[in-house]
Amino acid sequence: MTNPIPAIDAAEVETMILTLGAIGAHSETGVWRTAFSDEWVAANALVKDWATAAGLTTRMDAAGNLWGRIEGRDGGKAIVSGSHIDSQCPGGRYDGALGVIAALVAIKTLVEAFGPPKRPLEMLSLCEEEGSRFPTAGFWGSRALVGRVSATDPDTVKEANGGTIGQAMQAVGLDPARLDEAKRDDIAAFVELHIEQGPVLEHADIPVAIVTGITAIRHTEVTLTGEQNHAGAFPMDLRRDPMAGFAEVTSRLIDHAYRMGRPAVTTVGRCHVSPNAPAIIPRSVTFTIDARHPIQDEATRMHAAHAAALTEIAERRGLGLETRVLFDHPGSPSDPALVAALEASAKRQGIPALHMASGAGHDAQQIARICPVAMVFVRSEGGRSHTPEEFSTIEDIVAGIQVLAGALYELAY
Ligand SMILES: [Zn+2]
Repeated sequence: MTNPIPAIDAAEVETMILTLGAIGAHSETGVWRTAFSDEWVAANALVKDWATAAGLTTRMDAAGNLWGRIEGRDGGKAIVSGSHIDSQCPGGRYDGALGVIAALVAIKTLVEAFGPPKRPLEMLSLCEEEGSRFPTAGFWGSRALVGRVSATDPDTVKEANGGTIGQAMQAVGLDPARLDEAKRDDIAAFVELHIEQGPVLEHADIPVAIVTGITAIRHTEVTLTGEQNHAGAFPMDLRRDPMAGFAEVTSRLIDHAYRMGRPAVTTVGRCHVSPNAPAIIPRSVTFTIDARHPIQDEATRMHAAHAAALTEIAERRGLGLETRVLFDHPGSPSDPALVAALEASAKRQGIPALHMASGAGHDAQQIARICPVAMVFVRSEGGRSHTPEEFSTIEDIVAGIQVLAGALYELAY
């Protein structure tokens, strides 16, 4: 098979990553760029300039997403690629930003080589994916474009020090009353490139992955209640110790995920012991279970196993059991035709690509509500992310952009 995709300019991509990463730079290699901040405004202004220079028509929508579009000769629904430009506090240079740069570079390369596409092509810089400024506003931009923000959100969604997201929007010239206008129903496909944020590609020694689906995530809060007593005076066989129940539950659940095998994961990440004292058998232990699997049936099986283990252990130990599901995001499988287009693109260009599920949430899972989606992952050094230390080599990044560009070519030309 011939490969029509021109070589991506690695030096240019590297310069773009460093230039964008300098906006909101934190420590040696980190970025601190929260939604609607001065740094966020400056970063979008830079991307807008790049997109304009590449011949794209840019606009910011009512939610704060920046779009760059080139019309298609045959019109129709748009092929869109992009990711988020906001970061963790601090995050690295690659999480989100790389997908914005990749979309821009891929579209620019295609337009330079082949002229205007048949179908409209758009790059997208999404707003507040991380929820790092407004903790309950995660996926703000992608939710707005699929109609999943509410008219009351601008007044009720607040940052830690109290300001509302509506006030932050107004400060950058956006009108919260027009949030609804960010909705799109004219997108044919969305492909997001993102760093992997885990060690799977590094362990497999492969630069790029084609994402087959985004994991289902459920957070459950559990409270085990026993009887608070003296740590010395109470014999072991007469205790109702919620800490012992907690330890058994944690060990059983984590072991269950091990036995299910990849990509099942279970994490007990937060634990409150009450009272929290060395010489007291605690009265209660409250903890969270984060359970993820990309296949919904498997996720459901996992939740059932967790529930059964909790009930059995609490009953046997004479403990009270309360559970509360904090949130439950369904799994989001990638579109098979888009996966095939990415796979064909990688093959044609001789780029080794693994198929894997995403264990992290992404904007693509929101956008999946209105159109077919898929993702490309680029290998993360050491699997690191959500830290200034996250890093991907320019060779791996270029390989990822080549795969993306080849698929966009198939879809739009
Ligand atoms: Zn991200």
